[in-house]
Amino acid sequence: MSSSSLLESASSASHPLAPYGWDAGWEAEFAPYADQGLVPGRVVRVDRGLCDVVTPVGTVRADTEFVVPRDPMKVVCTGDWVAVDPDGEPQYVRTLLPRRTAFVRSTSSKRSEGQVLATNIDHVVICVSLAVELDLGRIERFLALAMSSSSGEALLHKPALSWESGAQPVVVLTKADLVPDPVTLSHLVQDVETTAPGVPVLSVSAEQGEGLDVLGALVGGGTAVLLGQSGAGKSTLANALLGEDVMDVQRIRDVDGKGRHTTTTRNLLALPGGGVLIDTPGLRGVGLWDASSGVGQVFAEIEELARGCRFQDCAHEREPGCAVLGALDSGELPERRLESYRKLMRENQRIVAKTDARLRAEMRKEWKRRGAMGRAAMEAKRGGGPR
Ligand code: GDP
Ligand code: ZN
Repeated sequence: MSSSSLLESASSASHPLAPYGWDAGWEAEFAPYADQGLVPGRVVRVDRGLCDVVTPVGTVRADTEFVVPRDPMKVVCTGDWVAVDPDGEPQYVRTLLPRRTAFVRSTSSKRSEGQVLATNIDHVVICVSLAVELDLGRIERFLALAMSSSSGEALLHKPALSWESGAQPVVVLTKADLVPDPVTLSHLVQDVETTAPGVPVLSVSAEQGEGLDVLGALVGGGTAVLLGQSGAGKSTLANALLGEDVMDVQRIRDVDGKGRHTTTTRNLLALPGGGVLIDTPGLRGVGLWDASSGVGQVFAEIEELARGCRFQDCAHEREPGCAVLGALDSGELPERRLESYRKLMRENQRIVAKTDARLRAEMRKEWKRRGAMGRAAMEAKRGGGPR
């Protein structure tokens, strides 16, 4: 490393945006825009064409008009790093820096290209409540969501056919205080570890503050999202990591471009112990969406076996020469695993079909709205004005 690049990393560490994830990589990516007099920032909230961006001079509300409206993948999203023109009134987002990772809600239709829910995520924290019996199948499903991977850069140019992230999954068993016996607790952790080879598995109790330091250290070096069923303890965990009530944090920290305190909600928050947390309404319901490419990764051994099937499109039901059924017979593949795989694949197909129908309905509504706006503008021009 040259002395100048050492200086550069030192300066990015003390940068006012460092708590939001600014590093030498973003600094290098941003350099050409700094020369144009633009300021860097990270999007903390998006709301109909406007976004709140944290910049070295505070939070600004900026217009995202530059986006290519026909490509939903290029729409500015919470987590994005952008270049903002500080002189405009309103201020404009001028450039979207290439994404490292992205969470995309995909569709199976060729026309719609998916919807980006959060970007530049390093850790996907899958929250699973210990208050109810462990459902390993559900954990596998969330892992599949987390592990469909591709780089964010590719997503700016290619339609995504699945959930795409490239982030590191972590499973957190919440409400550990409800399992007071340490032996039972460690067995539960082991069960999940067996289901998720190579994935860190932790147990925490937000209520008693246990395990939070380990989790905090794990997510401290990047940007995390919390996934999990409603009631899994995500909000409680978020509050515990933030060390205070989230709403209060939002109220205190949000200062607009003119130095006024505002009360908008933020979907991206800097953690006091380091790291960043993204929590968007879209991500909250994430369990319901497509995970097709991630399913293959979570069930890698099944996909591997399937390569040995006689027929390429083998459904592993009763086809002759099926290597998957062979492994089932020999006991190499546990029955539960195959059942779980089948269930996830079926569920996925249903959900993709449903999501497509909903996206189409949303688009129709948007076209109608634009049509009505166009008519109102025409009438205003003719001097009629809207009545
Ligand atoms: P979310 O829907 O995933 O955001 O879940 P919440 O954070 O709202 O938590 C759901 C319920 O679990 C609430 O009643 C919480 O009080 C409870 N809860 C959350 N964390 C813990 C914990 O560490 N221990 C116990 N015993 N209960 C918890
Ligand atoms: Zn087969």
